[in-house]
Amino acid sequence: DLRSVTVLVPGKLHPHAVERIGRTFRMVCIDQSDPALVTAELRDKVRGIAASPAVDKSFLGADFMHALPNLEIITNFGVGYDGVDAVYAGRSGIVVTNTPDVLTEEVADTAVGLLISTVRELPRAEAWLREGKWVSKGNYRQSPLTLRGRTVGIFGLGRIGLAIARRLEAFGLAIAYHNRRPVEGVAYAYHATLKGLAQAVDTLICVVPGGASTEKAIDAEVLAALGKEGVLINIGRGTTVDDDALVAALHGGVIAAAGLDVFAEEPNIPPILLDAPNMVLLPHIASASVHTRKAMADLCVDNLVSWFSQGKALTPVPETRHVKAK
Ligand code: NDP
Repeated sequence: DLRSVTVLVPGKLHPHAVERIGRTFRMVCIDQSDPALVTAELRDKVRGIAASPAVDKSFLGADFMHALPNLEIITNFGVGYDGVDAVYAGRSGIVVTNTPDVLTEEVADTAVGLLISTVRELPRAEAWLREGKWVSKGNYRQSPLTLRGRTVGIFGLGRIGLAIARRLEAFGLAIAYHNRRPVEGVAYAYHATLKGLAQAVDTLICVVPGGASTEKAIDAEVLAALGKEGVLINIGRGTTVDDDALVAALHGGVIAAAGLDVFAEEPNIPPILLDAPNMVLLPHIASASVHTRKAMADLCVDNLVSWFSQGKALTPVPETRHVKAK
């Protein structure tokens, strides 16, 4: 009986997920994933966690998992699970699930929207109209940049990267990519290093996961390699870009423009980013339509239901794929 299974919700979670968990399991909500909030009863009873650390900016670490000895599954709202210590979970026999695929096309749509907004200055053109400048000063300027003739480098040709590439191929643009390994069955040019990719393209779209292996990977050297016509789009995680280097590159004309949906310390955006020229900034909305967020919430809860009724997670992350139900 699933009603006897205790599922803990630390911090904010999508209301549809909360509603379904509350209806299906015994749900307990606490403010955040802080071991100090784990009572003796929770220590005994909690077998599942549903959390949204990317939205919440909390971290589900070893200390919290350690405080819950009967924990079997953490279901992460979002495909990026850099907010969960999945390596520790895997070692401790806890399965971690994420929400792949259901958000892929939405995020790819947003990436392309952000790219066009950045290159063709759509937000600034709209501000021109709204501020009455079309009447007082005449036409908005012709954008110095265009998508025409561009070569796009995808940093992270995974599920979302491929969906972005497919769209941009239809736009008539050349595509190249960098991953740690080439993707089988893909004709796009592979570059073994990020710097090599940046050198070969003038438009770089970052859609790699966050975490130590990609931290500040987009640095001064990569931006210099991208070049003065260069456009950077980051739809992955804010931690992947060295903000100081990006701001310097925009001020110095090292690259031409940037569009960011993600930031290192969300929702706090450093003033240097707000003040930098030729930048379009979005508040982490790539997957944030009612349609897609509901699908993510459902997959989150479906993982819990499947685990506790069939002993099988639907979408375990690679670090915990070996974990079997007890
Ligand atoms: P995938 O796992 O399918 O793709 C990730 C890709 O990145 C893989 O191709 C992988 O290839 C590559 N990669 C990972 N680490 C490195 C590295 N250190 N160096 C080079 N390449 C690397 O994930 P998705 O496409 O589904 O999602 C990607 C990320 O997008 C998420 O992790 C999340 O952080 C972000 N995201 C952001 C959203 C937003 O709202 N802005 C919404 C959804 C996702 P390989 O392993 O061969 O290196």
